[in-house]
Amino acid sequence: MTLTEKILARASGKARVSAGENIWVNADVLMTHDVCGPGTIGVFKREFGKNAKVWNRNSVVIIPDHYIFTEDSLSNRNVDILRDFAREQELPYFYDVIDDPNGHWKFDASKGLMKKQYGSNYAGVCHTALPQKGHTRPGEILFGTDSHTCMAGAFNQFATGIGNTDAGFVMGTGKLLIKVPATMRFRLEGKLQPGVMAKDIILQVIGEIGFDGATYRAMQFDGPGVASLSIDDRMTIANMAIEAGGKNGIFQFDARTAEYVDARVKKNGTKSTYEPVEPDADQTFVYETVIDLDKLEPTVACHPDPGQRKKAKELNHIRLDRAYIGSCTGGKTSDFVEFAQVLRGKRVTIDTFGVPATPEIVHDLQTTRWGDRTIWQILEDAGVRMTENAGCSACLGGPVDTFGRMNQAGLKCISATNRNFPGRMGHKESQVFLASPATVAASAIAGKIVDPREYLSN
Ligand code: SF4
Repeated sequence: MTLTEKILARASGKARVSAGENIWVNADVLMTHDVCGPGTIGVFKREFGKNAKVWNRNSVVIIPDHYIFTEDSLSNRNVDILRDFAREQELPYFYDVIDDPNGHWKFDASKGLMKKQYGSNYAGVCHTALPQKGHTRPGEILFGTDSHTCMAGAFNQFATGIGNTDAGFVMGTGKLLIKVPATMRFRLEGKLQPGVMAKDIILQVIGEIGFDGATYRAMQFDGPGVASLSIDDRMTIANMAIEAGGKNGIFQFDARTAEYVDARVKKNGTKSTYEPVEPDADQTFVYETVIDLDKLEPTVACHPDPGQRKKAKELNHIRLDRAYIGSCTGGKTSDFVEFAQVLRGKRVTIDTFGVPATPEIVHDLQTTRWGDRTIWQILEDAGVRMTENAGCSACLGGPVDTFGRMNQAGLKCISATNRNFPGRMGHKESQVFLASPATVAASAIAGKIVDPREYLSN
């Protein structure tokens, strides 16, 4: 069996499962957020009764992150609905925006968009916060009401996005009926060269198979090249499995996985036991390919979908209006480090927005010094508009007052995010070009799309 089949077999109590089989699986964690949480809670109450209790209060994780730093009153109200539910159900893992369990969330625009407006429990973007807060464990099943839940496949677990109706059912029973996906194998060999990042790997893969090339399939990333990839790198790759239509993305388990997970469960006091899955000798794949990491070059997914692959050096004719770094995919500490390495001592020439995924990342950037400047200061010196209000922000557009949102027709943005369908970051006639943080940084300096390797040598 493949890694995905092994996890699903275990979670369904069967010795073996095969692609195409429909099975009931037991969930380990159910995650929801401010956009889908109220709907999920509504389904749960309608189907199980207004006094029903969730199947396991330690397994339900609620992370508001999407439409938070906005004056939109309905968005603010969604956070209050989550708080009421968490209090009623006595959920230990609700990462509230404010500290008062009886309070109400209201964003105060008069304080501006840049200075933090959250309390001590706020966790930031759900997919980045889940591992940071110790909720991702090898061998487990994670369901989340968000398509990029697949990011947790970086930790050798089966993680996938589900709709509110399914999530309401999981909330009441801890179970879900799913079809076992067939597995596509991406064997990674070699090592990335300077200026080439994990984002380039996944953009290469999606360009190869198309934005629907892995529809309802598991994307398994394994091979000797995985060892050289950091946990952040693996998260970037697994995150974008859905951009090829994948049911899930999954990585093999190794010492790096164990080191990260063990440290995080210990720090947060979450469940510390887990059982990884190892590859079998008899795995069956519907597709196999080898990616030679040494040969990859900085890659861009052009408007209007993540499969529109081009090399960055082929796109020098595309002039840009803005650049954006952030999101679960591209707003991690290591992403900002790579971004800052290109920008250090230089200036951006177009509007450039920086949105760390989580408060922990804000802290990392504001406390890590290169010489006498923090990374945060180096980015501000370069002209990047950095906000402390970690969250999804303009990755998915959001309400019109969202930081970094593209509110005008015709704007062209290069972005370290994960999705670029029309209207994704705001105006339906704007265009988004997906790239690595290094490519976004170099392009922000040049005002057009460029290969970042030209900027590293300086
Ligand atoms: S950062 Fe973007 S992709 Fe990630 S969860 Fe938020 S909206 Fe979705």
